[in-house]
Amino acid sequence: MRLLIISFTSILLIFSCISRESRNHNPGWQYNAPDYSDSQKELIHAGKSKEPMRIWLITNKQDSILLRTKSKDINLTKEQKTTKLLSERLLATVQDPENAGVGIAAPQVGILKNMIAVQRFDKKGEPFEIYVNPVIKQYSKKTQFCLEGCLSIPKKMDTTKNRAYAILLEYDRMDGSHEIEMVEAFTAVIFQHEIDHLNGILFTDHLDLEIEEAEERLRKAKGKND
Ligand SMILES: [Zn+2]
Repeated sequence: MRLLIISFTSILLIFSCISRESRNHNPGWQYNAPDYSDSQKELIHAGKSKEPMRIWLITNKQDSILLRTKSKDINLTKEQKTTKLLSERLLATVQDPENAGVGIAAPQVGILKNMIAVQRFDKKGEPFEIYVNPVIKQYSKKTQFCLEGCLSIPKKMDTTKNRAYAILLEYDRMDGSHEIEMVEAFTAVIFQHEIDHLNGILFTDHLDLEIEEAEERLRKAKGKND
């Protein structure tokens, strides 16, 4: 995700019990995760840890097919060197002055694995952190407006209006520890944006949804007046 601009939020938060799990998340699931393919390993090991990777773009046909594909979980007990290098190169890519962002997901560098890097604006020093196999377990009913951009979608910024104000997030850290935490405000939008990437979803899809919903409302209103 490229940049924050505005998020309209208030202090009061009503956390709903609506669950919109994107996939099953059971204890022990990661042990069934597939290994890296040879081409994934080749791509990750083609550079050193501080070396940014190429950002895959929606404007390139081959890239766009991958960006629309769901990613797979990472088995943190296997191929640890490759996972570590991927995390380091993902951080180098999102902090590359050429293309700086506030978050990035592994598919954006051509790796269909469930790993994201997010800048934690809600933490002191606003550090970038790596999250493995992240899943959003709950979304607040309260939503926020946010101007979003994406490293994979050149020259496009627009306001999404349907991002949850808060999310309950479950993930693994690189050391294998499993965490559950609630994240709010703009940082919650970054997580929603990046986890969408792991499911082949782009922020522009939310804009299309809004357009469809508006058209549907208009159709219904017209129907009432007829
Ligand atoms: Zn993005």
